[in-house]
This record gives sequence, C-alpha cells and structure tokens, in this order.
Amino acid sequence: MINNTDNGRRALVVGLGISGLSAAIRLRGIGWEPVLAERAPGRRTEGYFIGLFGAGTAAAARLGFLGDLTDRACHTGSTHEVDRAGRGRRCVGFHELPGTPRLLLRGDVEAAAFRALPPEVEIRYATEPVAIEQDDGGVEVTLRDTATGRSRTERFDLVVGADGVRSAVRELVFGPARVRRLNYMVGAVKLAEPVPGIRPGDGAVLAEVGRSMWLFPFTGTTPAALFSYRTSDVAAEFGAPPIDRLRAAFGPEPPGALLEAVLTEFERAERPLFDSAEQIRLTSWHRGRVVLLGDSAWCMTLYSGMGASAGMAGAHLLGTLLAAHPGRLDLALGEWERRLRPFVTYHQREALRQRQFFTPASRFQRAVRSTVLCGLKSPRTGGFHRWVLDTTAAKSQRMKSLDISAPIGREAEPALTAK
Ligand SMILES: Cc1cc2nc3c(=O)[nH]c(=O)nc-3n(C[C@H](O)[C@H](O)[C@H](O)COP(=O)(O)OP(=O)(O)OC[C@H]3O[C@@H](n4cnc5c(N)ncnc54)[C@H](O)[C@@H]3O)c2cc1C
Repeated sequence: MINNTDNGRRALVVGLGISGLSAAIRLRGIGWEPVLAERAPGRRTEGYFIGLFGAGTAAAARLGFLGDLTDRACHTGSTHEVDRAGRGRRCVGFHELPGTPRLLLRGDVEAAAFRALPPEVEIRYATEPVAIEQDDGGVEVTLRDTATGRSRTERFDLVVGADGVRSAVRELVFGPARVRRLNYMVGAVKLAEPVPGIRPGDGAVLAEVGRSMWLFPFTGTTPAALFSYRTSDVAAEFGAPPIDRLRAAFGPEPPGALLEAVLTEFERAERPLFDSAEQIRLTSWHRGRVVLLGDSAWCMTLYSGMGASAGMAGAHLLGTLLAAHPGRLDLALGEWERRLRPFVTYHQREALRQRQFFTPASRFQRAVRSTVLCGLKSPRTGGFHRWVLDTTAAKSQRMKSLDISAPIGREAEPALTAK
C-alpha cells in the first residue's frame, strides 16, 4: 500500500509539453505542489499542425484554457488533392472530417496551457532526471542541470514522466519499453512564407503510394506542411540529413513546383521535425510513485490524431483520481489506468488503420481514399459519400469525442458540445 500524507503532496513533473503542462495545472488545482523540470533551456514555440477532437477540447475546457485555443481552420479556402504537375481536384480539408476538429499548432496548445499555469508553479529549465529511486515514503530524484552539469537529489511524493516518446523517466524506472515501429517516417515544418501558386487559405494533399505531403492552411499565419512516407529500414533513415532522406523518399521523379517549394522550406527551416512513427506499448503506466503520461506512456503517433487530446485528458483524469483517493496513490493510479487504457488502446489501433488515410499503402487504397475524400465535395455524390464516411467512421468519431476526463460517476460520453 502506498500512502501519501496530507501534507506530502509534492510532485515532480518531467517535461514541459502539452501533457506535462496539463498535469502541473491539474495537480496545482487539487492542492498539490508540482515542480516542472524541462531539459530544454527554454519553452518551445510554434511546432506542427494539430487537430483537436472532442476528447481534447473537453479536457482543455476543464483545465481552463479552451477559450485561449482559437481555431485556426480556414473556412474561406478549399483543399485540393494534387499531382506533381499541379493538377488538382477539390477534396475535404482536415477540419471538415467527421468530428470537425479544431485546427491549431502544437505551440498554440502549449502557449495556452502555459498561460493557464498558476504563477506559483516552479519551472526548472535545462534540467533532466538522471536517477530515480523510490521507497515506501517517497521518490528520490537526482536532477542534473544540463548547463552546469551539476546534480542534486530531491525527494518528491509523486513523479509524472511527461517527457515524450524517448522518455528518460520511463527508461530509468520501467526499463526498455516495447516499441511498435510503424515503418513510417514523418517530416513536419511550419513554413516561413506562403507557397507560391497556392491561394491563402487553400490546402493541398499530394497522396502517392507509400508517400504523401500535406499542406495545412491556417488563419492568421503561414501554412504548416507534413511529409509522411513508408520505409522498410527506419534506422537507415536517420543515417543522412533529413532533407536528403525526404528527397530520396519522394524521388526519383521530378518533384514539381509545389513539392519542391515545400521541400525547400523544410531545408531552410531552423528546426524542422523529422522522426519515425513509433508507438509505446507498456503493460503498466505506473510503478510505485512514478506515473507516465502522454507520449512517454503510449505515444499513439500522429496517425491517431489524438496524442495531444489524450495527454490533456489523461492529466485531468489523473488529478481527479488523486483527489478521489487522498493518501492512496496505489488506488488512484490503478483506477486512473483502468479508466484510460481502453481509450488509449483503441486509438493506438486506429492509428494503424488511419495511416492509410494519411499515406496510402497501395494503388487500391489510394483510389478509395481519393474517391471518398473528393467525392464528398461533389454536388452529385457528396451526400452519398458523407453517408459512407459517417457510417464507416461512426465508432472512430465517437471515440475521438469521448469525454474521457469526465468527472467520476458520470459515464464518459461524446463531448459534442465542447468545440
Ligand atoms: C507531425 C505531428 C502531427 C501531430 N498531429 C496531431 C493531431 O492532429 N492531434 C493530436 O492530438 N496529436 C497530434 N500529434 C501528437 C501530439 O503532438 C503529441 O502526442 C503530443 O504533443 C505529446 O505531448 P507530450 O507532452 O506527451 O510529449 P512532448 O510534446 O514530446 O513533450 C515532452 C517534453 O519533455 C521534454 N523532455 C524530453 N526529455 C526530457 C528529459 N530527459 N528531461 C526533461 N525534459 C525532457 C521535451 O523537451 C518536451 O518539452 C502529432 C504529432 C506529430 C509529430
């Protein structure tokens, strides 16, 4: 049995991403004293495209920052499925998909959560855990200052590892995790300039077998681009500069004007994202007084469209259960995981299915995808295709909107009013 006394509620939250910030807000909200440790020397800004569905907007509302998350979807422009020669057909944009997600940049969510963080919460930048030992009464964490190299050991009642897919907390406490490689690589960049030849507010999708490029338009800022491609050798993808790998993956055919413009922006960007898509599979997300949250625990990957939502909802629910079981961490963490796991498992499986929507694996998938997404925009067949999509995606849509952070005693229902 793991007790924590009423005055022993000091928590270390590792990671200043969406999950860590949400956890710190929630822990403070229930009277704990969170300390945030972030390895980077400062806060990140901007980031890549993110769609927030009902589960995420409901959690953001409870965490107190939904009002600060202005939807950046462009309702005036249109999205086209294009080929390299520049020919295009109208198709639905991401914001028009079932569930009508709110479109944002990751930095929008982090900035809104940061603003909602109570000022008394201590943040330590350039700080990372290098050792974690626990006993019945607490957790001793050795934190290293990455600027000076100096370390010091402190005692906490709880450690929340929200330090992303390559989590140090996970490695230190749980050991090597089972990593499910999806054999897809992802490149993402926020463009510095609008793309020549693309009207402001318009989006584009180049979907070829095994590779795709998406251009997401935003209200009030330049577009973001996403590259996704299949690979049989993930390790080799990290053996050359990202731009070289992207050019190889989208070659040898000439790129055409649009793809070339976006590749050039990627090459010029200071810190574009280039990574493999990997899910974390753990049999338990908590051990003693240490709990993992967000990508460090389950990383659903971008193909689920639910990573940010699950991080916020998981953080809120964690606070709810800690408050419901004062002094009983074991009960709180056990029940937290029991409630959350079916939701996470569902979306991890969905990610495997939905990768085909982002990047078709065969000519057949490409044709189906194109028929449905472009058919939705056709005055003649739009109604039929909407019916097909709503019918086939009904469960997925319900699960994306599931209000998993709902108070205890209220069954999780679709949070359809949260947008
Ligand atoms: C291209 C792309 C598109 C996506 N699209 C969507 C979408 O449409 N909808 C959606 O819901 N989700 C989407 N996601 C997923 C979503 O962005 C992530 O699931 C979410 O941001 C994870 O947040 P996190 O806080 O758990 O982890 P992270 O964002 O990885 O944050 C971890 C933090 O911990 C810090 N850190 C790392 N190691 C240490 C250490 N040792 N010590 C201290 N600090 C450390 C990092 O610097 C970082 O600040 C997308 C992801 C990608 C890559």
